[in-house]
Parts: sequence; C-alpha cells; structure tokens
Amino acid sequence: MGKIICVANQKGGVGKTTTAVNLAASLVLSDRRVLVVDVDPQANASSGLGIRADDSTITTYHVLMGSATVAEAAQPVSPEGLFVVPASKDLVGADLELVNMEQREMRLREAIKLVADDYDYIIMDCPPSLGLVTLNALVSAESVIIPMQCEYYALEGLGRLLHTIKRVKRHLNPHLGVEGILLTMYDGRNNLSRQVAAEVKRHFGDKVFDTVIPRNVRLSEAPSHGMPVVLYDARSTGARGYLQMAQELTG
Ligand code: ATP
Ligand code: MG
Repeated sequence: MGKIICVANQKGGVGKTTTAVNLAASLVLSDRRVLVVDVDPQANASSGLGIRADDSTITTYHVLMGSATVAEAAQPVSPEGLFVVPASKDLVGADLELVNMEQREMRLREAIKLVADDYDYIIMDCPPSLGLVTLNALVSAESVIIPMQCEYYALEGLGRLLHTIKRVKRHLNPHLGVEGILLTMYDGRNNLSRQVAAEVKRHFGDKVFDTVIPRNVRLSEAPSHGMPVVLYDARSTGARGYLQMAQELTG
C-alpha cells in the first residue's frame, strides 16, 4: 500500500504547493509511482503540473461529492509515473456542501483507499485553511509534512495546526503522525533566515527534516511552465533540494 502524506500549514505562501509538486516529481525520479491530489481550490498544484481544469474535467470536487472515483479523476503528467487529481474553483464550495453530508470527514479517505495499492506515494496539497476539505485530507493521511518559511512569524499558527492534528488523531484517524517540518525558502546569506531555522530546530528537534529547501528563483519560475523544477532546471539548487528531500523520505 502506498504511503499517504498530506502537505499542510494554514499559513499561506509557505511552500506547500511547491513542496507537494516537487517532492512528488523527485520521488518519481527515484522510480516511485506517485499521485498528487490537489485539494486546494486555488489549483496551484494542478497548474504547476500543466493541468488546468475546464467544465469537463473530473476533479477532487467530484471525488469528495462521490460522483467520481480517484481512478477516474487521476491524469498522467510528466515525468512518467506521476499523476494528478486536479482541483477546480468548485472546491471553494465544498467546505459548505460537505457540512450536511454523511461521513463528511471520511469521504476522501474512502475514495483514496481504493487506489492506495496503485501508487507508492499519494501526496495531498492542502489549502491554507483548516476547513472540512483540509480535514478530509488529514483524515486520509498517515502523516503530515509541514513546510515552514524561514521568515518572521514562521511559527505563527503552528500551534493550531498541531492541535488539529492531535484532535484528528484522537477522534478520526489514530494513524496520523507528523512526518516532519520542512524549512523552505532558506537564504543562508540572510541572518533572519539562519535565526528562524535555528529556532525551529531548537523547538522541534528531530521533527525537522535535515533537508532545507533554499530560496531559488527556478522554483518560482517552473510552475508558469507547467512543470516541476526537476524537469525545468534539474541542476538548480531548488531541484537538488527536493531530490535530497525525496532521498531523506525514502531513505
Ligand atoms: P498557499 O497557502 O497560497 O497555497 P503555498 O504554501 O502553497 O501557498 P507556494 O505556492 O508553494 O506556497 O509558494 C508561495 C510562493 O513562493 C510561490 O510563488 C512559489 O513559487 C514561491 N516559492 C516557494 N518556495 C520557494 C523557494 N524555495 N524559493 C523561491 N520561491 C519559492
Ligand atoms: Mg498552495
């Protein structure tokens, strides 16, 4: 059965999508078969992998509503062995639509279960919120990767996420754990970046991945070309960071 990982942090713009897309592609280059499930209505992971949903696209929304299976929604993208269940704007309404549904926290889990054997990793890219859609992702996952930007207020709101994870673990998904905190957008020439990284490590010890993702413009350019950085510029420091992260995860 594939390992199911959720990339989450309710703080916006910390590198969740960049991590989901590029970690997934890096795992594929180590011969893993990987599915990215885009659970964010912004659909940045989908477009970053070259998929833009239109009216006929089967998306995460349909999976959550029970009108399509994950197998029907998954589309092959590059590199070969990588797949994505795209998101669309419809997903904005899903938080509300789910409220009155049966098993409202379990819908994604039940859907993903059916394809868990088809992949080595299933990676979910969460929105910067802790609503029912994100809850569905946390209930589906075995573990959470928490990207943290090496900037002021990096730790802000983290307590709430850890509390939510604890609650999900207690009531809905006893298997859920924190895979690790991933420091992103690190700039070694910048004092603040170094201080934040040191503080997070002091606070969370071995829960912090050894791999630190550098600030690298190639990582921000790649999505506009609809491809992960390992295809856009494999030799960039950003690509090397996520390849190392994939090694650390599988190692
Ligand atoms: P949201 O909360 O809106 O979903 P997010 O947490 O998914 O945001 P990203 O979209 O991955 O964050 O990153 C925010 C912005 O920072 C994007 O423009 C992205 O290209 C850029 N970015 C992410 N990581 C890096 C990095 N290591 N170096 C340079 N730019 C980066
Ligand atoms: Mg995002």
